[in-house]
Formats: sequence, structure tokens, C-alpha cells
Amino acid sequence: GEGVVAAVARALGRADAVRRLEVRANADTPEDAARARRFGAQGIGLCRTEHMFLGERRKLVEAMILAPDESARERALAALLPLQRRDFTGILEAMDGLPVTIRLIDPPLHEFLPDRTELAVRLAAAEARGVEPGPHDTELLDAVNRMHEENPMLGLRGVRLGLVVPGLVAMQVRAIAEAVVERTRAGGSPRAEIMVPLVGAVEELRIEREEVERVLAEVSRESGVPVHCPVGTMIELPRAALTAGRVAAEAEFFSFGTNDLTQTTWGFSRDDVEAAFFSAYLDKGIFATSPFETLDRDGVGRLVRIAVEEGRAARPGLKIGVCGEHGGDPDSVHFFHAAGLDYVSCSPFRVPVARLEAGRAALEGTDGGDTR
Ligand code: PEP
Ligand code: MG
Repeated sequence: GEGVVAAVARALGRADAVRRLEVRANADTPEDAARARRFGAQGIGLCRTEHMFLGERRKLVEAMILAPDESARERALAALLPLQRRDFTGILEAMDGLPVTIRLIDPPLHEFLPDRTELAVRLAAAEARGVEPGPHDTELLDAVNRMHEENPMLGLRGVRLGLVVPGLVAMQVRAIAEAVVERTRAGGSPRAEIMVPLVGAVEELRIEREEVERVLAEVSRESGVPVHCPVGTMIELPRAALTAGRVAAEAEFFSFGTNDLTQTTWGFSRDDVEAAFFSAYLDKGIFATSPFETLDRDGVGRLVRIAVEEGRAARPGLKIGVCGEHGGDPDSVHFFHAAGLDYVSCSPFRVPVARLEAGRAALEGTDGGDTR
């Protein structure tokens, strides 16, 4: 009889023929992008860029965010630009011809700044040895203390960082635009899209978008290669969902970040889902599965529906996707189909499952059980 591989390929082919949802992948390296493509991803729905600032580049990030003077920050940004350009060129090449949604940096600050306890211990140890701490270390500790947050996940993240650190957005957008120019000149078909994270108010998006457009125009002028990148936003805060009609005026696409939307709708820390009370809630049947795993249709799902409806009312045909973990969860895929989304984006390994479920959802023509 038919081998398993052939049977799976046939099922995927059938699903692809009927599904309405496009399936993209979340990937932020050329290797992951290539893998996603082999699994049948139709683009990248979320290219997170904060990972690109770790490792050896951490010192530059420190300099950029904590820089005591403007010239130190500018030097750090200038050093980051070619590195970022190379990051984006690689990903656009791996996904040539398909959309790549690049999200502007969204780091929880504590993952990027030096640990202040460690710093303080180092300073104290130096003092105990009778060594004068370097002025740099003292300044660094002061700066880190000033920026310390008790709730980094609700702090200086996403668009907030872009609005507060001068030159950061411009550097990233220039790197994207220059990568597009490079790929275009090499005969490729780069399709970069730029996405703004953690927007709660349309004003944040408007300011950020103007900066993005300014840099795109600048690079187009300099290079003679017109660079067009749709600019859109994550919808991952309840306020963004509830004001989606206004947000849509500044966004060429929406992408639901259901990880943060679940965290902020329930008030559960996404970093503490292993905490004891979570399993107690499961035991008591307060929820059947973690709302971080399967979309909570009543709360988070309601916000998704509101945002889809108001966003499309304000901007007919608005492209809408999801890139939170739920994008690859079978039950949630049915919900997103029913809610009228254009695409789901999930980890490369979940792409085949998402394709199958999107096909099933289309065939069943159900409302995804969303009848409450
Ligand atoms: C989300 O919040 O669902 C999301 C996709 O962004 P991140 O997980 O990077 O916060
Ligand atoms: Mg998020």
C-alpha cells in the first residue's frame, strides 16, 4: 500500500487545495526560514529581531540603551547597522518571493541589561580589595539601577523602546531597507513587511510609522531602488483590540500576538505559567487547558473578534494574521479560520499540522465551535 510519507503528502495536498487560511512560520534565522519553507510555509509571519542583539552584540546594546552620551549611542548604532543588514539579507534570501514580516525589536529589558546584583557584587568585591571601581562600572550600575523594572514584561518593551531610544528604529528600518536593495540588485524578489510590537494607542503607531516611512524614503532616494514595505502592527494588548478601528488607520496589516494578549487579558504572567496555581486551576477545572496553549475563546477570542470586525470596518480588506503560539494549535486554528483571519503563523515544525487543520476547518465549514 501507500507509504506513510506519501499518505501525509497527499493529505497535505488536499488540505492546501481547500484551505482559506495561509500558513506562515515564525523564524528569525536563514536556517529556520529554509526549514519553514521545506515544511510548506508561505512566508514568515513573525521574524523576532530581539534575539539578534544577544551574544557578542550585547555590549553594543548596553551602549545603545545606557549610553551616557549621544556619540556613544550613535557609535553603537553604527556598529549594529551592518550586522542587522546581514541578518535581514540572509532571511530575505531564504524566503525569496514570499512575505517576511520583520518585527521591530521587542526585548524585555532585563534580558538585555547587565544583571545589577552581579554588577553590585563586582563593585563591592573591588572595593574590598581596595581597588577603586572604574568610573565606567559605577556609571553602568547607576544606569542599570535607574532602568530597573519590577515587571519587565509590562515595562519598557516593544514600541515603547523604539519611542524612547533615539535612532533605534531608524537603524533597524535602514538595515531592512538596505537588505531589500541588496537583494533586489542581486535579482531577488524580497518582500519585507515591517511590524510594530506592543502597541496600545494609535498615537504610538503613528509616530513609529512616520519614522519608518521617512527612512524607507531616504534609502529609496539614496539607492535609486524604490523600497516599499507594508507597515503593520501587532495586536497584543486589550487596548489595541478595543481601539482597532482607529489603529487600522495607521496599519496596513494586523497580527495578533496571543501570548501577550493572553497574559494581559487574564493578568497571568506568561513567564510563570509553570507556577503552582496554574496546575491547581487545571485540577479544579477552571480551564481545561492552559489559555497559553489553546485560545481562550470567551476572553482573548472575543477581543480577536472585536479587532477583526472594527479593523476591517475602518479599513476594508485589512490583512490579519496571528503569530502567537496559538497559530499552530489545532483547536485555535479552527477558531482563527472562523474569525476570518487571512493567515496563521507558527513554529516551522507545526506548519504541516496548521496546514492540515486549516484544510479541515475549511471543509467542515464550521464556526470552529464558537457558538457561545
Ligand atoms: C505574542 O505576544 O504572542 C508574540 C507573538 O510576541 P512575543 O511572543 O515575541 O511577545
Ligand atoms: Mg508579544
